[in-house]
Amino acid sequence: AKRSGRGVVRLFDDSMDDSIRFRRDVEDRLSQAVQREELSLAYQPIVSRDGLEIDGFEALVRWNTNEFGLISPDTFIPIAEESNLIHELGDWILGAALKELQHWPGQYVSVNFSPRQFRRHNFVGHVMESVQRAGVSPGRVQIEITETAIFDDAERAAETLYKLRQMGFRIALDDFGTGYSSLYNIRKFALDCLKIDRSFIDGMGRERESAAIVHSIIHLGRALGLGVVAEGVETEAQVQALRVAGASHMQGYYFSQAVPPERARALAEQRSMA
Ligand code: C2E
Ligand code: CA
Ligand code: CA
Ligand code: CA
Repeated sequence: AKRSGRGVVRLFDDSMDDSIRFRRDVEDRLSQAVQREELSLAYQPIVSRDGLEIDGFEALVRWNTNEFGLISPDTFIPIAEESNLIHELGDWILGAALKELQHWPGQYVSVNFSPRQFRRHNFVGHVMESVQRAGVSPGRVQIEITETAIFDDAERAAETLYKLRQMGFRIALDDFGTGYSSLYNIRKFALDCLKIDRSFIDGMGRERESAAIVHSIIHLGRALGLGVVAEGVETEAQVQALRVAGASHMQGYYFSQAVPPERARALAEQRSMA
């Protein structure tokens, strides 16, 4: 038998307790976040390949708490996703993004939706209602979903995407290359663009594999008539390589981090990063 010391076992148990407690605390706080006005959105420019024109902004949620400080969406979105909180949070996010959009001259806003939101009963009607209430055109709203959201029930997802597209929404497949995509399925979905996951862009200069994957995705996107957004672009070298490879759009710290609404408005007016 394995002789693991008691100390080890206890340590493990303690950290289990801690992580469960942290989770519960976060869930508690999160359920009040909207009401306490602790949430905000930051906006990251999505720029076109050539002119460095700002075509749109991705809305990224920020949660600032008194107790824990700033908590990353990578931490709290999964917790919200596993409870019903994601719906309340998601509604707030969409509402805030649609409101902010009206201060920009023409750019679109790209909003992230978690798999659970996407699979919500009457998702299409729900989004349409929000957009109508805000009085904005669906053509200025891009819906970002991950592969996980659509490949679980491909048939139903295809129908949802088709309806959204019919209504004029733009659809982006986020984190492309990291999920369960099957190329067979991709062609059945009504999409406008693929977003190449940051991990591939990051590896591009170092590993032939990443570079090959980036090139393949761009090629695939172009062949299917889709836009291709390279995410997490941080260096001049990546910009050059992606231009040559033919990515239609780029997003990343090289151009700008996600910025507060006031700054996004100024950038939107300016229309370009040049
Ligand atoms: P994501 O949708 O893939 O968003 C891109 C993440 O990469 C953002 O992190 C962004 O700030 C970061 N990023 C952008 N450019 C660069 C770069 O050049 N270098 C590096 N290292 N990072 C870059 P963030 O805002 O922390 O969001 C993390 C994840 O949380 C998002 O990944 C998304 O999955 C989720 N998320 C954020 N906001 C929302 C939201 O409003 N709703 C939902 N459902 N999920 C959200
Ligand atoms: Ca995203
Ligand atoms: Ca992404
Ligand atoms: Ca991601």
